[in-house]
Amino acid sequence: AKNAGGNKYQFFSGEMNQNAVRQLQIENLIRHGLKEDLFSVFYQPKVDIASGKLVSMEALVRYEHPEKGIVSPAQFIPLAEETGQIIEIGEVVLRKACEQTKRWVDSGLFTGRVAVNISARQFEIPDLDDKIMNILKQVGLSPLHLECEITEGTLMQHPENALSMMQRLREKGIHLALDDFGTGYSSLAYLKRFPINTLKIDKAFIDDIAKASDDRYMTQSIITIAHNLGLKVVAEGVEEENQLVILRKFKCEMLQGYLYSRPLNASRFENLLKENHEL
Ligand code: C2E
Ligand code: CA
Ligand code: CA
Ligand code: CA
Repeated sequence: AKNAGGNKYQFFSGEMNQNAVRQLQIENLIRHGLKEDLFSVFYQPKVDIASGKLVSMEALVRYEHPEKGIVSPAQFIPLAEETGQIIEIGEVVLRKACEQTKRWVDSGLFTGRVAVNISARQFEIPDLDDKIMNILKQVGLSPLHLECEITEGTLMQHPENALSMMQRLREKGIHLALDDFGTGYSSLAYLKRFPINTLKIDKAFIDDIAKASDDRYMTQSIITIAHNLGLKVVAEGVEEENQLVILRKFKCEMLQGYLYSRPLNASRFENLLKENHEL
């Protein structure tokens, strides 16, 4: 019996070690990536549903691994949030996205906003607004070309601090989008309480709007409430034409999804901007 218990314990701790080893590997990989500048930014269009034109874009981080190729953020963002490395990654992404946007604005290819994801850990930085303004100033990009995407989780942890940071960002002309709406403990009250410009309805709702009536009514209600509060709505993860038909009927302003384009590297996104420019 003693032996079996021992084995059990060993097995358990072995598994824990495996997990810890894996976490350490990713942590080291991130540190290496930051040092060697292996993080890059992809861009995905947000399309105006009425005109079919590309009007803004979301910046999405990628890790360009020399051997493994492009690593998706799902593989490292959760751990980076735990270790705090997300703060440094976030700064790299913000700077690169602003630099690229500045070039596209200067060449007349882009007039909208670039949306950058800001994690809860970043949003807790007391002078985040000054940090962002410094980067914009160094890059030479107007705050009118920037939008920050935050999630409901960010608002929930320290609502008072979050509210004051949001107000300071808004005073500087930066727009705010509430990301992944509908997945968390979303309370519609948040929409009224926080100074948000745009609501992004999560892909989980959009997936089924053409199939399930509950998701369709839910989406329609969210859009109606958002409009009554003066917010613009983006539907995330739109993949099919029949979803677009429904969203158009609901007067949803924008879509983001594979139906129009996947996230692209800067050079391929630039081609898209050029095509859009000629329309
Ligand atoms: P998110 O902010 O909700 O970003 C949208 C994700 O949905 C992206 O995944 C995008 O590629 C994917 N997507 C867009 N349209 C479609 C579609 O039609 N079908 C499907 N199946 N997927 C679609 P991605 O780039 O892998 O990013 C995943 C998540 O990682 C993001 O979700 C965000 O939470 C996080 N993330 C990405 N970049 C950053 C960053 O720079 N900072 C932070 N803090 N988080 C980031
Ligand atoms: Ca986002
Ligand atoms: Ca999202
Ligand atoms: Ca459903």
